[in-house]
Amino acid sequence: MPLFKLSISTFGLEAGGAASDLLTELAEPRALAVTLFEDGPASFLIEAYYETEPSLEAAADALSALRAGLGEAMLEAVPEQNWVALSQAALPPIAAGRFVVHGGHDRARVGARRIAIEIEAGEAFGTGHNATTALCLEAIDRLTRHRCFARVVDLGCGTGVLAIAAARVLPGARVLAVDNDPLATAIARTNARLNGVGRHVRVIDASGFAHPLLRPPRAFDLVLANLLPGPLVELAPAMRRALRPGGVAVLSGVLDHQAREVGASYCAAGFRLLARSRRAGWTVLTLVRVTPHSTRHSWPERTCAACARKLLKPLAALGYTVDIKPPAPPTSQLSFWLRQGVGFRDDGWA
Ligand code: SAH
Repeated sequence: MPLFKLSISTFGLEAGGAASDLLTELAEPRALAVTLFEDGPASFLIEAYYETEPSLEAAADALSALRAGLGEAMLEAVPEQNWVALSQAALPPIAAGRFVVHGGHDRARVGARRIAIEIEAGEAFGTGHNATTALCLEAIDRLTRHRCFARVVDLGCGTGVLAIAAARVLPGARVLAVDNDPLATAIARTNARLNGVGRHVRVIDASGFAHPLLRPPRAFDLVLANLLPGPLVELAPAMRRALRPGGVAVLSGVLDHQAREVGASYCAAGFRLLARSRRAGWTVLTLVRVTPHSTRHSWPERTCAACARKLLKPLAALGYTVDIKPPAPPTSQLSFWLRQGVGFRDDGWA
């Protein structure tokens, strides 16, 4: 199947960056990959690849606000034999946030503006070409612009691409990369060294949080998990234990129609939704671990526990968790704790 390549030369890094961002975000035509290369002093080249022939007019329309710094757009069909080469040994670089993920063959070509991560396409998952990875890289980019995370876990690290990205933008952080596939952990170790973060990324063979280094409660500030909905839902309580209050979980590997269920189980486990991003049918959820707000109340008079339970029943329907405590001396009054749960509503997460 042929691919279509749209090339635009730009003058200046700012115009190039803005144009490549616009093409990346454009829904129609939807690019498979957009890259920005430096090809001379102050001269940059954008290459966008499409599965079906894109409309030059639609692309030009989207870029019309930037015309000043842009050259003529050129469209060409990439012949079939090139497509095979591209999809195997020579996958085009992928830009995501401040990162560009590329193979060894593009080492010399990647632009100066992005943080380059070199990953060879191989047996482990995670070259950045799948939207589930690219969306996580964008989430790491956004989260680390204004906030520092000291202890990070990449759960299901594959090639280690997310752990490497986190280590590159959080130079002081300790990053644990975990996978239950020994082939993936071997590849992640090699990739961490190759990308100069071998000392900051520790790669662990484990399933979920089942490893002594991952067991201390409230130890982590950020967990990146590009898994599947089933394991994500199963891991929600462990994720809550592992993260400190205010810590962030980035969940990926979730199709748009599965996001509701995954989000609801994390909200029930004590998380609140911070952000949700979507691409190519995939959703990434960014959640913060909250400590539910609790308040203590007492009855003015003596009340039996059974009556108290009956009286408080309607509160559960309003999303409250109610804990009834027996009277503690010196008072003889029954007291109850109301915890305001983080619930799930039809219009999103509350
Ligand atoms: N983080 C990479 C790779 C994601 S693919 C990226 O974002 O591109 C998911 C990886 O998770 C696979 O390598 C798989 O072996 C691993 N995995 C799946 N379930 C796991 C579990 N319960 N514990 C640890 N690793 C798991």
